[in-house]
Amino acid sequence: AKAEFDQRICYYEREMDEQARQRRAMARDLWTAVEENAFTLAYQVQKSISSGHITGYEVLLRWDRPGFGPVSPAEFIPVAEECGAIYAIGAWVLKTACEDAATWPEPYKIAVNVSGLQLAQFELVDMVKMVLMQSGLAPGRLELEVTETAIIADKKRALAILSQIRSLGVQIAIDDFGTGYSSLETLRSFPFDKIKLDRSFMSEVETNEQSKAIVRAILALGRSLRVPVLAEGVETRAQLDVLRDEGCNEAQGFLLGRPGRIDWADMLELPLRA
Ligand code: C2E
Ligand code: CA
Ligand code: CA
Ligand code: CA
Repeated sequence: AKAEFDQRICYYEREMDEQARQRRAMARDLWTAVEENAFTLAYQVQKSISSGHITGYEVLLRWDRPGFGPVSPAEFIPVAEECGAIYAIGAWVLKTACEDAATWPEPYKIAVNVSGLQLAQFELVDMVKMVLMQSGLAPGRLELEVTETAIIADKKRALAILSQIRSLGVQIAIDDFGTGYSSLETLRSFPFDKIKLDRSFMSEVETNEQSKAIVRAILALGRSLRVPVLAEGVETRAQLDVLRDEGCNEAQGFLLGRPGRIDWADMLELPLRA
C-alpha cells in the first residue's frame, strides 16, 4: 500500500508540474501577444426588453493563440492576472474599445470588463480619464463591469477607486450578480448603475420555480434600489418571456446576438425587415 501511495503522490506531483509548465508557457505566449498586439475584441449586444432597442455592447476579449487556436478569456485571464500581463491587456482593451465606440454611427454604450487587479490600482482612474480624453468618448457611454470577488479583495480601496471613476460620469455595473457570497453587502456599500444577473440563473428560469423566485427577488431588489437589472445568458424565447413578465430591464445572450463584429449595414436594414 505504501508503494502504491508513493506512486500516486508521484503522479500528482508530475501532474502539478505539468500544469505549472503549461501555465508558464501560456504566460510567455500572452506576453508575446501583448507585444505583437495579437488580441482582438468581440462585441455582444445588450437590449432593452420592453422596447427591443439596443442599449449597448459588452466588449469581450479574444485571443487566437498560435498553435492552439482560440482560447477562452475564462481560461487565459486568470493566467494573465497571475503573470501581471493583465495590466497591459486591460489598458489595451479599454483604449481600443473606447476608440472603437467613439467612431460608431450610434451613441451606444460600451461595457468593459475590469479585472480585480486593475481595481486595486489608483492608476486605473487616470487611465480612464486619459482614454476618455484621447478618444473623445462621452463618459456616460462607458460602463465598467466589475465582479464582487474583484471588490472583495481590498474592498475599501476598490470602492474608493470606483467612486472616483464614477464621479467622471462613467457607469459602474456589478457583474455576475448572485454568484458572490456577499451580494447584498456589496450592493449596500456602493451606488452601482446596473446589476448584471449571472447567467447561471437563466438555465432554469423557465422550469425551476426556485430559480424563478430568486430571479424575481433580485428584480424586486433592483426596483427598490432603482438600479436597472440586465439578465445575462438569455438563450431562449421562453427565458426572455419570463424576464419580460417579471419586469427585467435589459437582456444579453445568444438569443439577442452572439459576440462578434458589429455589422452597421445590417443593423440599418433591421426596421425594414420587421
Ligand atoms: P462575463 O463577463 O460574464 O462575459 C459573458 C460571457 O458569457 C462571455 O464569455 C460570453 O461570450 C458568454 N455568453 C454570452 N451570451 C451567452 C449565452 O447566451 N449563453 C452562454 N452559454 N454564454 C454566453 P467569454 O467571452 O468566453 O468570456 C468569459 C469571461 O472572461 C467573461 O465573463 C469575463 O469574466 C472574462 N473576460 C472577457 N473579456 C474580458 C476583458 O476584456 N477583461 C477581463 N478582465 N475579463 C474579460
Ligand atoms: Ca462581463
Ligand atoms: Ca457576467
Ligand atoms: Ca462570468
